[in-house]
Amino acid sequence: MNLTTKYMTRNDCYTADRKITPKGIMVHSTATPGVMAASWFSRWDKSYKAGEIERQVCVHAFLDAKEICQYLPWDHRGWHCGGSGNNTHISFEICEPAGFSYSGGATMIGYDAAEQEPYFRAAWENAVALCVYLCRQYGLTETDIICHSEGHEQGIASNHKDVMHWFPKHGENMDTFRLAVKKALGSAVSIS
Ligand SMILES: [Zn+2]
Repeated sequence: MNLTTKYMTRNDCYTADRKITPKGIMVHSTATPGVMAASWFSRWDKSYKAGEIERQVCVHAFLDAKEICQYLPWDHRGWHCGGSGNNTHISFEICEPAGFSYSGGATMIGYDAAEQEPYFRAAWENAVALCVYLCRQYGLTETDIICHSEGHEQGIASNHKDVMHWFPKHGENMDTFRLAVKKALGSAVSIS
């Protein structure tokens, strides 16, 4: 697992410095085609209070097909879901590949699933690996993993569609994701 850590110390979420006891993991995706994990540091390592950024937002990590970039300590309270899930869930964003667009809402326009499959599969594997790592660190299981849209259904997150606007294009959903994490958790494969 290719994990690098560089905290967004300029972000107001970081300086708010609230801790959580992680009870679960919330999976997001960026809805920003073609912006990869490392690029989010300069985008979000900014202060809302100082007028440097228009949104009060921060997540624990971004990942893409190549790497995982951790931007908050895992037990730091993130600002990722606009609900009480911020008090309980570690969050990460899966970066979406280039080559399509959004025209308002959560519908991917011009997304070629066959062409994007290699990217999706590599990002998926990184997401599974990160979840396994976090489950082992915090005594969680696959049943503690939800996506943002499931968080909304449970009343702990804002009304966003990620990641269920995307995963089904590749024949996957959050149940198959949890199953993949479960299988990986049960194996003896080293993820360090
Ligand atoms: Zn989200």
